[in-house]
Amino acid sequence: MRVTFLGAAGAVTGSKYLLQLGARRVLVDCGLFQGVKRLRERNWQPLPFEPRSLDAVLLTHAHIDHSGYLPVLVREGYRGPVYCTEATRRLLALVLPDAARLQEEEAEFANRHGFSKHAPARPLYTEGDARAALELLHPVALPSDIAVCAGVGASYTRAGHLLGAASIRIEALGEGDSESILFSGDLGRTHDPLMRAPDPPPAADRVVIESTYGDRLHSNVDAETELAAPLERTLARGGVVVVPTFAIGRAQLLLHLIARLKARGAIPDAPVYLNSPMAEDATPLYQDYPHEHRLSAIELAAMSRVAHFVNSVEESKTLNTRGGPMIILSASGMATGGRVLHHLEAFAPDGRNLVLFTGFQAAGTRGAAMLGGADTIKVHGQWVPVRAEVMQLRGTSSHADYRELIGWLAGSPRAPQHVFVTHGEPAAADALRQHLRRELDVEVTVPEQGESFSWGRPAAGAPAR
Ligand SMILES: [Zn+2]
Repeated sequence: MRVTFLGAAGAVTGSKYLLQLGARRVLVDCGLFQGVKRLRERNWQPLPFEPRSLDAVLLTHAHIDHSGYLPVLVREGYRGPVYCTEATRRLLALVLPDAARLQEEEAEFANRHGFSKHAPARPLYTEGDARAALELLHPVALPSDIAVCAGVGASYTRAGHLLGAASIRIEALGEGDSESILFSGDLGRTHDPLMRAPDPPPAADRVVIESTYGDRLHSNVDAETELAAPLERTLARGGVVVVPTFAIGRAQLLLHLIARLKARGAIPDAPVYLNSPMAEDATPLYQDYPHEHRLSAIELAAMSRVAHFVNSVEESKTLNTRGGPMIILSASGMATGGRVLHHLEAFAPDGRNLVLFTGFQAAGTRGAAMLGGADTIKVHGQWVPVRAEVMQLRGTSSHADYRELIGWLAGSPRAPQHVFVTHGEPAAADALRQHLRRELDVEVTVPEQGESFSWGRPAAGAPAR
């Protein structure tokens, strides 16, 4: 068995692990690199393997940094099965075409304004490429055991991070002993208000574990309590609350919390608008996977009813002429693009309003600038003054902290021989490595981009890197 780390090594994006099991080749996750330019440029580099040589692709979940490179793999010739959970398949049907449209729009914009050094600028992939990738998805139940190809089996267990999110254990069934490796995927929290906790991990010889918050402990403040006071004071003074939110997962959590606060009269009964077509499409999916989240049928109905859905761009613009009090939820979550920009333009200049961020804000984004106290932001080429209150919720993360990551791994029926720490900034990954070594007494490695490790019989024809 040989594993090569082709992404999420020293970074949180681009998850891609090439696994060689004898003559078989399997790719676990097929994510896009995101964030700073140095990382995004990797999306344009050729892959170090021939896509046609893969027997299967297995995806842990629908987030773009785990799935968003799939259209390129398919365009470059991959035609085999892509195994993912049923909920992941349905989310990908929303996410991949949307990612393609965004890239097509950006390329078109760059060409119109002539600021691309490539002439003409082109998208990484098109909506047609995304739709071709969707054709290859093979849905599996959660949890389930599947036959991937001759001599290779996989088990999917709940990871709790997002609807459909799974950890995947892959087993090579050899003549003698079998060999196994477990990929945590992104792990959710033990006590998330929306999602159920991750399943305990199955036993495996090797484990690849994420480390987004490998150096942090989340606060114990419960998300509903944290949300109540800022919403109450903003709405009471007639202000508008603008919530830049990720369309899948965090948007539904916020709708649920707002519905609860309204039901118990903790906040004024002001109108709530969900201005994100993708968030609107994702919300009903929660009804079909009740074993993955904690909401009752009554709570699901309340979550779906609490907001008015904003469909057309015209409706979206009309909202800006409407006064407070009201709450607007809109993508993108870091205010890097999307409809929320129009709302920031309209509402950030008024000191009665509140801009409420709900997740990690990467350096260089408008979200990070506003939280850092910027008194102006540039939106659509114009400087917009920021006089609104700006704050960030701490209790709404969808990733386990280091205590929860260690607790998850400690729940395995037997200790692994070797643990690989990925999907974290270097400081976070190294902190988790030290915690694991100290508390679980196992061999732990933080792999580098492109690094390979092998065990047992040498893989036939494996390229030396
Ligand atoms: Zn994720």
